Amino acid sequence: MGMRSSKVIILLALLLAAGVASSTDKLIALTFDDGPRPYVLFGSKGEHPGPGLVNVLDSNGVKATFFVVGWRLTPKTWGERRAEENVGITCLDAAEQLVRHGFELEDHTYSHVELRSAERKKGEQWVLGDVNRGAEAIRAVTGTAPRYLRPPDWIIPDDARHDLERQGYQLLTISSENPIALRDINSLDYLCAGRNPSGCPKPSLTGGVLKQIEQREKHGVYTHILAFHELSTTAAVMPELITELKARGYRFVTLSEYMRLVAGKK
Ligand SMILES: [Zn+2]
Repeated sequence: MGMRSSKVIILLALLLAAGVASSTDKLIALTFDDGPRPYVLFGSKGEHPGPGLVNVLDSNGVKATFFVVGWRLTPKTWGERRAEENVGITCLDAAEQLVRHGFELEDHTYSHVELRSAERKKGEQWVLGDVNRGAEAIRAVTGTAPRYLRPPDWIIPDDARHDLERQGYQLLTISSENPIALRDINSLDYLCAGRNPSGCPKPSLTGGVLKQIEQREKHGVYTHILAFHELSTTAAVMPELITELKARGYRFVTLSEYMRLVAGKK
């Protein structure tokens, strides 16, 4: 076998090892944490005027993934009374609508507390229980158990992480121990909400996210999981961000589709 043909074979082997995604696949998995928040999803004319996130995603043909909080998926829950506008839709109704629109629901725990301190105070079993309770609440809506877990603030003790992985969860992470393509991009969108958004990425939330994507592209990574929150300020920048990413050749997929293409998960 000549030098050239062996080089071709090595190259082919490398391509196969790289997984199913071809080098031309530029993928984005848009994800939104902390909901369902009906006033963000369906918009309002009151305190936080703006288009509903569901409408924005639908009109752009984008399927996204929602990391929802279990306690919201209980009957007659409208959200946090002080901070969230009541638009007459319960969180549970909102979750059912998300499913009907073809969006994916994944686990962001039931109580949404920081799990390292929770484990210190209440033990590992409580942490596992809170994750599973969140999953159960989702299963009651979708009919299937969620597969992905994003711990609040990406914080989880190692023993709980191992045990949850053994149970079949895949954990979303920002840890550098994972390949770049499987590390969340932290959009920092929560710093752009509220009365004093001085910590918001400069020059803008969209600009900050694009900058992070460009950094990863420099490492040859063209697939990205973007971590946002259900916030009206975030919903407001989505049309601009989606348009910009489409112009750069990106395609939007749900998280399971992303994992199937990028990590070769079935
Ligand atoms: Zn959260």
